[in-house]
Amino acid sequence: MLLGQRVTVIGGGIAGLAAALAAALRGAEVTLLEQAPGITEVGAGIQVSPNGWAVLKALGLAEDIAAKAPRSRAVRLRDFRRGAEVFSFPLTREDRPWHFVHRADLVDTLADAARAAGVRLRLGTRVETVAIDGDETSLTLADGTVETHGLTLAADGLSSPARTALNARSRPYFTGQVAWRATLPDDGSLPAEAHVFMGPGRHLVRYPLRQGRLVNIVAVEERDDWAAEGWHHTDDPANLARAFADFCPEVRDLLARVGTAHLWGLFRHPVAPVWTGGRLALLGDAAHPTLPFLAQGANMALEDAWVLVRCLAEDTDTAAALAAYAALRRPRCARIVQAAEDNATAYHLRPGPLRFAAHSALRLAARTAPHLVTARFEWVHGHDVTKS
Ligand SMILES: Cc1cc2nc3c(=O)[nH]c(=O)nc-3n(C[C@H](O)[C@H](O)[C@H](O)COP(=O)(O)OP(=O)(O)OC[C@H]3O[C@@H](n4cnc5c(N)ncnc54)[C@H](O)[C@@H]3O)c2cc1C
Repeated sequence: MLLGQRVTVIGGGIAGLAAALAAALRGAEVTLLEQAPGITEVGAGIQVSPNGWAVLKALGLAEDIAAKAPRSRAVRLRDFRRGAEVFSFPLTREDRPWHFVHRADLVDTLADAARAAGVRLRLGTRVETVAIDGDETSLTLADGTVETHGLTLAADGLSSPARTALNARSRPYFTGQVAWRATLPDDGSLPAEAHVFMGPGRHLVRYPLRQGRLVNIVAVEERDDWAAEGWHHTDDPANLARAFADFCPEVRDLLARVGTAHLWGLFRHPVAPVWTGGRLALLGDAAHPTLPFLAQGANMALEDAWVLVRCLAEDTDTAAALAAYAALRRPRCARIVQAAEDNATAYHLRPGPLRFAAHSALRLAARTAPHLVTARFEWVHGHDVTKS
């Protein structure tokens, strides 16, 4: 237990809120510093896979979230031009639940639970720099105030000041891929399935949210033009429609309805070499930003939060607890980040012998041994950090 122990969390995203809640549930006095004036989330979907769901369940939130985000039943890989199915993964195993969750629903549920568990949220509090001073963590805030904190869990995302306190500044590189995201109203007729339309140098993922009242789109294109990193840059929906103009009518019709599209450049960031120092620990995107091709960023963030708090609760020696956390998490996250990068290549094969062979092999596997293909990622989705 962490009874009465003071814990500071930086960042009120999925990682920070989950860690704050987990620590408060174990008796810690938690303060969370968030730069934004409110806990808000962009309108976009997130696929919570069984490994992330296990953490939501252990935090007591699964029922609430499932009420807004029913289970998904399958992932279907489809050819871009005709829409024909190349392969599908059933997601019907009772002990492996998948959910398409609206990010705002997930964040709101985590924030409400954190408040109810006694977490103090200090909104509009931006941390500019982080420094370790023995057992203390010194935080310089945007208004110039310097505060001294003890145990500090840094979930401050992609541009984490805490990461630079522990590591040399890293150089992300543009992967030559950009992604659009959009959500649009729908009539509830789409099946509870993710469909991935795979074309040369491009793919588009579509799945329903909120009982099908919304549909979520993420569309990725390989191109040389650089685009800024970050979720909040808008783009003309006509550019998105143009980039997928040779896809099947089902995709074209969907894109014709997009009212607002966001575009961001996909950058590869190295996994932070050092995750902990003094009484400071990194988690979530602050430690391991990932490309979205395995849909694991938020799932890893949930896993990190659970494991970090469990390690702290099980060992009164904070340094040993933090070292145990990093040793448990870093190899797994690095492997997932690499697997996400490898997936992009598989989706974007150009027409030709390699694409023909790969799709033929998948079709054959779908008929003869679908479980072998699903088993390939069992190490990701079948891992339950709440049981180990
Ligand atoms: C298009 C897209 C689709 C995705 N789909 C999936 C998916 O299907 N499944 C999945 O698992 N993952 C998905 N992800 C990844 C996932 O969204 C992220 O990996 C995850 O949200 C990371 O959470 P986080 O809390 O670590 O960081 P963030 O969500 O970035 O939160 C960081 C928080 O810290 C705050 N903050 C930042 N700096 C400071 C500071 N200096 N001081 C105070 N506060 C600060 C921010 O305001 C923010 O609230 C997707 C990502 C993208 C881009």
